[in-house]
Amino acid sequence: MAEQQRVAIVTGAARGIGAATALRLAADGLAVAVLDLAETDAKGTADAIVAAGGRALAIGADVSDAAQVTAAVDRVAAELGPPVVLVNNAGVIRDNLLFKMTDADWDTVLGVHLRGAFLMTRAAQAHMTAAKWGRIVNLSSTSALGNRGQVNYAAAKAGMQGFTKTLALELGPFGVTANAVAPGFIVTDMTAATAARVKVPFDVYQEKAAEQIPVRRVGRPEDVAHTISFLASEGAGFVSGQVIYVAGGPRD
Ligand code: NAP
Repeated sequence: MAEQQRVAIVTGAARGIGAATALRLAADGLAVAVLDLAETDAKGTADAIVAAGGRALAIGADVSDAAQVTAAVDRVAAELGPPVVLVNNAGVIRDNLLFKMTDADWDTVLGVHLRGAFLMTRAAQAHMTAAKWGRIVNLSSTSALGNRGQVNYAAAKAGMQGFTKTLALELGPFGVTANAVAPGFIVTDMTAATAARVKVPFDVYQEKAAEQIPVRRVGRPEDVAHTISFLASEGAGFVSGQVIYVAGGPRD
């Protein structure tokens, strides 16, 4: 039955939200290409999928590099099968107030999130339109609504929403949906790095954040993976061009 199994690519899947999403999609029955900057890092998630009885391929690629993206998507198609689910999750932060932000801070963040999602989607959509079926899920953020110290990241994450809605318009006639998930505070290395930057112990930082969240807890990678699983499912075929905030409350 392996040849009938749908194939997904999850970028930035060595850890955090991407790893939880890769594991969840594998548990849902998909074969999963676990893509991250270093293949050795991606291997941990891929090994966990295989240990749980799934199919996975670890791939090293920088999503902001066009040649590496083309090679990675070609390799997925050759070794796992044509990818019809794409989760654009790879991300970085380079936080600073505007007056201190460098050109490199801006270019790196826009490059990984926006250019990365563009390159990955352009490469993968050929397989989806050929199959007349596809699911694209892009990681936005509550920061798209504005967040002090994150002009680069907020711009990228707001950009992801416009990118998503346009994909929905262009690819819908080919059976391909595109949606964005916009997480709030999720416990990962990324939020740990933010706590370190503002010099607050991570557990204290989480408690303070939880006080401001209507459901009174911080999010886990699995909270986001669950929503992505829904958007990637067969039954979500009439949901497209949407932004779902996974933030423990309304943030849009
Ligand atoms: P994370 O733990 O920092 O993981 C991000 C992953 O992306 C890392 O494995 C990283 O690899 C990889 N990556 C970075 N640059 C890459 C590139 N150019 N090509 C390929 N992979 C790359 O982050 P996370 O918290 O799970 O966040 C995942 C996504 O959710 C991001 O898009 C983030 O902006 C978004 N998000 C997160 C939160 C949150 O609260 N955590 C909230 C809203 C949105 P390395 O380890 O090698 O750097």
